Amino acid sequence: MERRELFSFLSSSLKGEEYKEKDKIIRPPYYKDINAFDTECINCDGKCATLCQEQIIIIGEDKTPRLDFSKSGCTYCDDCATACELGVLNIEDKRMIDAGIRINESTCMSWDGVMCFSCKDPCLEDAIDFKAMFMPTIDQDKCTACGFCISRCPSSAIKIKVISS
Ligand code: SF4
Ligand code: SF4
Ligand code: SF4
Repeated sequence: MERRELFSFLSSSLKGEEYKEKDKIIRPPYYKDINAFDTECINCDGKCATLCQEQIIIIGEDKTPRLDFSKSGCTYCDDCATACELGVLNIEDKRMIDAGIRINESTCMSWDGVMCFSCKDPCLEDAIDFKAMFMPTIDQDKCTACGFCISRCPSSAIKIKVISS
């Protein structure tokens, strides 16, 4: 399924629903073989996390890296791929972050009539559209799933869902 089709599917199937909080591991966007995290990272001291300037990579108990957008987002700067010496992350395998971003209309303040642009300001892709200054939605063709908007929402209305690759 193409990414665009997948977003369309997500939009139709999840509209108006809370996202299920499961399967939330989002990997740094430079891998080719997702199984390599399990086989190789055990032999590493988490160099990708150390080198990430945004400090969004967390090393789990299983010693594999995952992205955490609770404070910042991914700039796609390549530093984690450059840091990886075991071939799990490679610059030539650069890809979109495997996640879909959605605004929960039932908890978003703007959808409730309160003027708020907190999510729009950090979005460098200009991917959040407002209708007459209210009712924001995310343009899936522009969104890079960088995650910068998530921590900026005062009502935690921006949800992220992992997309299996
Ligand atoms: S691309 Fe850069 S900002 Fe994104 S996870 Fe890797 S090191 Fe961090
Ligand atoms: S630097 Fe590479 S091998 Fe080390 S934890 Fe990160 S992805 Fe795994
Ligand atoms: S996740 Fe998408 S909507 Fe949010 S800041 Fe990044 S590009 Fe913009």
